[in-house]
Amino acid sequence: MLKTRGYAAEGPTSTLAPFDFERRELGAQDVLIEILYCGVCHSDIHQARNEWGNSIFPMVPGHEIVGRITQVGSGVTRFKVGDLGGVGCFVDSCRVCQSCKEGVEQYCEGHLVATYNGTEKDETTPTYGGYSSQIVMDENYTLKIPTNLPLEGVAPLLCAGITTYSPLNRFKVGPGQKVGVVGLGGLGHMGVKLAVSMGAEVTVFSTSPTKEADARSLGAHHFVVTKDPQNLEPLANKFDFILDTVSAQHDVNMYLNLLRRERVMVLVGGPEKPLELASFSLITNGRSLVGSMIGGIRETQEMLDYCAEKNITSDVEVIPIQQINEAYERTIKSDVRYRFVIDMKSL
Ligand code: NAP
Ligand code: ZN
Ligand code: ZN
Repeated sequence: MLKTRGYAAEGPTSTLAPFDFERRELGAQDVLIEILYCGVCHSDIHQARNEWGNSIFPMVPGHEIVGRITQVGSGVTRFKVGDLGGVGCFVDSCRVCQSCKEGVEQYCEGHLVATYNGTEKDETTPTYGGYSSQIVMDENYTLKIPTNLPLEGVAPLLCAGITTYSPLNRFKVGPGQKVGVVGLGGLGHMGVKLAVSMGAEVTVFSTSPTKEADARSLGAHHFVVTKDPQNLEPLANKFDFILDTVSAQHDVNMYLNLLRRERVMVLVGGPEKPLELASFSLITNGRSLVGSMIGGIRETQEMLDYCAEKNITSDVEVIPIQQINEAYERTIKSDVRYRFVIDMKSL
């Protein structure tokens, strides 16, 4: 077994602290990745605090992983020692169900092996995430990382990037469309960059007036402060697509009312408690409210290649792992510009 260092939460109310554990020995299809950077997603916080009610402790969070491959198994063909490798929100799946066959493994109907807070295929051994020194990965679930981009800015693409790219892609967002992004955090700022790169006219809906200048430098065309609902009134029935990335309780009806006839709002945020939906928010204009979860391996690679071509990365605040608990508190206060990324040299 491979001795590995990490940071873990021992329970839903504990702070993260150093934690030693073991990774499996490499199998024929496996690569060993020395982790260089790992992004801090709000999902890490929801799960470390058991806000979704399914947490397994001790928990080593982290699913925005970029690193260097230091060993390869005997059957590995896609990577060699010295290559970069990336890991997103899952490390394996059943491989035989319809979703897996169609390359949308995130919706695996069998056992999706989450990068952390999950179990390996034996359904017993816990998985541990990227707040750690190394990870053993099946090469088929490992992403190829572009070499022309700063790696700390690439790490958040593995979750925040794909989670926003996938619905923009699925609903064919493009030129001539008015797109709203609700919440300017880790996901939101990637949603803005990607939607702008696809040619849309983008409006940011934010509770933080201080983020306006940033929103505009990210490429947003309009910025609306949502604390005063009156600011949204003139925008009713004007939008073609809205991406809601908010991590906490909020009024989705306020945004649904902005959609034109038969348009779609996609929910990617995962607040702890159920949201309230007024039927008429959907009935009026025949609108849809749709969910979306990350993306499959093929689409994640496509997104990374797209970002490499368009020179898109996440805006990050790099921290040593010793500051992780403070980073959680700041993220909850919407005080991050726009993703914390752990420099794993500090571990
Ligand atoms: P984040 O960086 O904390 O951003 C969330 C943003 O939501 C904040 O920056 C803030 O934006 C806004 N917000 C926070 N509290 C709010 C409140 N009480 N009322 C209104 N707006 C509020 O989080 P993230 O990492 O982007 O993740 C966002 C959500 O997506 C989380 O729930 C996460 O678990 C979920 N997620 C889902 C998927 C998926 O596959 N569907 C993948 C990754 C993450 P402003 O300051 O601009 O208002
Ligand atoms: Zn995430
Ligand atoms: Zn499957």
